[in-house]
Amino acid sequence: MEKLLKVNNLHTSFYTHVGEVMAVRGITFDVEKGEAVGLVGESGCGKSVTMMSLLRILADTGKVKEGSALFEGRDLVKISNQEMLKIRGNEISMIFQDPMTSLNPVFTIGNQLMEPLLRHKRMTKHDARKKAVELLKLVGIPEAEKRLSQYPHEFSGGMRQRVMIAMALACDPKLLIADEPTTALDVTIQAQILDLMKELKNKISTSIILITHDLGVVADLCSRINVMYGGKIVEQGTKRDIFYNPSHAYTLGLLGSVPNPKTLIKERLKPIDGQPPDLLKPPEGCPFAPRCKYAMRICEIKMPPYFEISEGHRAACYLNHPYAPKVEGFKGRGR
Ligand code: SF4
Ligand code: MG
Repeated sequence: MEKLLKVNNLHTSFYTHVGEVMAVRGITFDVEKGEAVGLVGESGCGKSVTMMSLLRILADTGKVKEGSALFEGRDLVKISNQEMLKIRGNEISMIFQDPMTSLNPVFTIGNQLMEPLLRHKRMTKHDARKKAVELLKLVGIPEAEKRLSQYPHEFSGGMRQRVMIAMALACDPKLLIADEPTTALDVTIQAQILDLMKELKNKISTSIILITHDLGVVADLCSRINVMYGGKIVEQGTKRDIFYNPSHAYTLGLLGSVPNPKTLIKERLKPIDGQPPDLLKPPEGCPFAPRCKYAMRICEIKMPPYFEISEGHRAACYLNHPYAPKVEGFKGRGR
């Protein structure tokens, strides 16, 4: 498969009055054409900052310090603002957690749907309107024609998220980045939006990066998963690797003890005791060590390297070392 995006050793920091917060600390992953990839982890692990770095929408205090993000050969970190403006909302689009803050309350849904088409695609008003109706139909909004002249407050939360998805797909983007697209919605609506995303994934060729704290959500949609912790990708593999052969103690914690293949897909992220690391002073060793029930002395001293579990499956956890003690539910290397 051809790569659409190749992120290599990306570092992003925030320079605050108390010092440098190292929010993303050298992450590497890629996305193939037409593929959905998950970035999973607790809040504060760096997943949203990764997205904001790729789209260059970081707050003024944030800066990509190092690394690259090649999008069809163009480095999103280095291209001019002008070039980025052409890519954002056009070739790469995004969906955020809270549709209400992303929709403009003073413009009709029709206006907001047509805006990117007029701007990026230079469509006539007539064609843009036609396409807007098609888009609303695509995301399952009934009476699309009539809905165009309504305002965001006239839509329910679930319907607003559908509109956001329609807007994100307006320009037929090559890549869609969805940051916690279902988190702000109630459970039944969450399931509907997820079903919609799955359905769309089969209909359109757009690649997706799905950012979530919920393993159930990625299991449904993504073929490959990156588990993030403390600004790093701690485990990376196919959905099968992550769910059936978790090789990092943090992933194991997320899955909750021994994975049960029958209930796995419905498994939700289990809270793990303790706090994520302070990224003002990131630990020298494994960032998960203070919360890890399997932590060994070496874990606190030295950042674990990536252990190659199988092709495309790697994990930065000493439990994969041949001399490490055996842990129930953990397979990793050579077990
Ligand atoms: Fe736990 Fe050590 Fe693995 Fe980190 S490297 S997750 S502390 S066992
Ligand atoms: Mg976030």
